[in-house]
Amino acid sequence: MASAFENAKKQINDSAGFLSKEYPDKSRFKKAIELLKRPQRVLKKKISIRLDSGKTETFQAYRSQHNDARGPFKGGIRFHPNVSEDEIIAFSTWMSIKCAVVGIPYGGGKGGIIVDPSLLSESELERLCKKYAEFLTPYIGPWKDIPAPDVNTGEREMAWMLDSYEKKVGHHAPATFTGKPLELGGSQGRTEATGLGGFYVLASYSEVTRMIPVKTTIAVQGFGNVGYWFAKFATGVGYKAVAISDSSGGIYDSNGLNVEKLSQLKEKYGSFNKIPKTKDHELITNNELLALKVDVLVPAALENAIHERNVKDIKAKVILEMANGPTTPEADAILSSNEVDILPDVLCNAGGVTVSYFEWVQNLNGYSWTKEKVIKELKKIMDSSFEEIYQVVQQKKVSYRKAAYILAIKRIVNAMMLRGRL
Ligand code: NAD
Repeated sequence: MASAFENAKKQINDSAGFLSKEYPDKSRFKKAIELLKRPQRVLKKKISIRLDSGKTETFQAYRSQHNDARGPFKGGIRFHPNVSEDEIIAFSTWMSIKCAVVGIPYGGGKGGIIVDPSLLSESELERLCKKYAEFLTPYIGPWKDIPAPDVNTGEREMAWMLDSYEKKVGHHAPATFTGKPLELGGSQGRTEATGLGGFYVLASYSEVTRMIPVKTTIAVQGFGNVGYWFAKFATGVGYKAVAISDSSGGIYDSNGLNVEKLSQLKEKYGSFNKIPKTKDHELITNNELLALKVDVLVPAALENAIHERNVKDIKAKVILEMANGPTTPEADAILSSNEVDILPDVLCNAGGVTVSYFEWVQNLNGYSWTKEKVIKELKKIMDSSFEEIYQVVQQKKVSYRKAAYILAIKRIVNAMMLRGRL
């Protein structure tokens, strides 16, 4: 399987072909595309912390700053044993695309540490977060690079990192991190933002394709923050979620699952495979979930969930990508040739970074918005972004992913040209 960054570069190349005729100066355009295929800066450091036992342990840390032609770098920080430099660079590239797709004034960034945080105590984690923020301090800030949470990091980690950064610079600067606790300048509505944004995409797609919610079946892979909120909003207006899974397996009910009830069962039993089978629902594997004959399949767990080997089993008519990079380019090509519509991650899960942007706007103004205002503004951005992509799909007869990339790359390339970077 190609690496994540190889995939990202291939996606840029594929869409660049469609755009080149719009740029009379071919060599300038080609140079812009070459620049988009590498990050502007990759920061790396081995960070040592004192463990509670008194010993010292060292962790490899990264931050990739992909392209800041449209605004400061923006992107999450991931704590995971599988973090690699290649993956961090790929995610920072996708963040540049995502911010441009929804038209928010940022470039892409991404950070990560190779660590299994479940093996560290709370105080060890705090020391790791503070040291990491100290290392990043010269390179981040409200107008430079604005980190946020990602896999295995959340409000708590952002609060520690903010404190470490502010100590170092000597003043308050809450707009340096987003995804903070409300008490430290976090935004209302951030928790559900990604799932809600994906739901708005589903609603817009349903409208243009005349898909009726109560007649539409959905399968959701992943029941974390994103999968839970997406399923909750979708079933709230009548879409029928017939299957939902976590990493242990899935629950299937042809009559549609009650998301709140499922959440309580997950809380009670810990994982889906421990929930007792009843006459209402059966237990299925994650592979069985992906192969269900549903209208909409929603990968909301991990990257590369749909790949060369399982793509032949997919029977869904639409794939709504809530996870980052859940479909490999090989699987994407096969699904597209089978006329499956893939609503791409760079649009579907952009609700999270959009509300992060609102958090930054509120922090810069020293003001806090109501949840109603956050939701209203999020809907505006998600609806207009879908509409712009849909227009390109119609006009150029391309896939939704290609349309999103065409729009995004054009916006970034134009910003680079206006700055005279080429
Ligand atoms: P999470 O950790 O809250 O939840 C992940 C869920 O996926 C869990 O239910 C877990 O059990 C399940 N899972 C893990 N491995 C699985 C497997 N092999 N098969 C099936 N299910 C599996 O994470 P999240 O915040 O919900 O993020 C999910 C995805 O969405 C990730 O790709 C993330 O990068 C992306 N994303 C998240 C946000 C956000 O705001 N949280 C924003 C943009 C993109």
